[in-house]
Amino acid sequence: MSLKRMLITMALVLGLMTGAPAANAAQDILFGGASITGVYYQVALQISNLMNKYERQNYNYVGRPTGGSVFNINAIERGAFDFGVAQSDRNFQAYNGEADWAGRPVKDLRSVFSMHPETVMLVTRKDTGITKVEDIKGKRVNIGNPGSGQRHNAQDVLRIYGIDPNRDIRAEGLQQHEASRALVDRHLDAFFYTVGNPSAAIEEPATSVDIRMIPLDSAGIKSMVADHPYYIMTRIPAGTYRGVDYDVPTYAVTATVITNANVSDQAVYDMVKTVFENLDELKASHAAFRNLNPEEMLQGLSAPFHPGAVKYYKEKGWME
Ligand code: GLU
Repeated sequence: MSLKRMLITMALVLGLMTGAPAANAAQDILFGGASITGVYYQVALQISNLMNKYERQNYNYVGRPTGGSVFNINAIERGAFDFGVAQSDRNFQAYNGEADWAGRPVKDLRSVFSMHPETVMLVTRKDTGITKVEDIKGKRVNIGNPGSGQRHNAQDVLRIYGIDPNRDIRAEGLQQHEASRALVDRHLDAFFYTVGNPSAAIEEPATSVDIRMIPLDSAGIKSMVADHPYYIMTRIPAGTYRGVDYDVPTYAVTATVITNANVSDQAVYDMVKTVFENLDELKASHAAFRNLNPEEMLQGLSAPFHPGAVKYYKEKGWME
């Protein structure tokens, strides 16, 4: 670089550093996703893309990878994130002070809307010989990183099948992108994951090795599902992943977008309005969002709606 170019660059940098902030600077908004191979990160990224396209003058959205549902709820409680994604069962437990939040309900947790359904899954390679949940005894199984939503689902399934995670399996707590790779590399025999379909976290191993998806539909699972409003029995349709040419019965939760009661009504209103006014664009941005519709997006939420969201839903006549 010539001396002159260098001086110009330095002058520009100094100018930027000392320049007074613009009067109407865009507000920074952090949106927590989860593992980079999951669907939550796509929720955070794609909604951020919409906001940075249509509301650029007012907001600067950044979608961030995180540890998952539990991490997002806790980060939102602390005010570190403005929005995040969390499973509907975690949304309920956090607001009501259960499970990870036993005795310390997150009373400032607010719901914005629901996104896609997520299925609880147990994925293995065909060559492990695992064909049913009981077969994971003695195997190396990822039950989800602390901070993820899936970890609690895995623990429920293990309990229902009478498997002790500390004694009967070699339980791992890997982040999902590491677990998907470890399954392919044969460092892991199976992983639990709760995610929308299709997810790169399963597509990637399915294209590298022959995978098998294990049914999670015992009488015990069905009775747990019947006892909780945020669970439903469902099936992952045959053909969703390479080599899985049979329906996989299991249960599902819903991915919910959450915020803190302290986030301004205006910020929540603007996000909700932009999402619903550009819903076709959001639906087209990822295959897991294909079936989104406003009616279902207002269901399955346990924490109270944020007033900024309610304002928009009332304007649309979707809420009384
Ligand atoms: N359900 C997972 C969790 O709560 C995240 C799945 C995803 O990233 O799409 O941690």
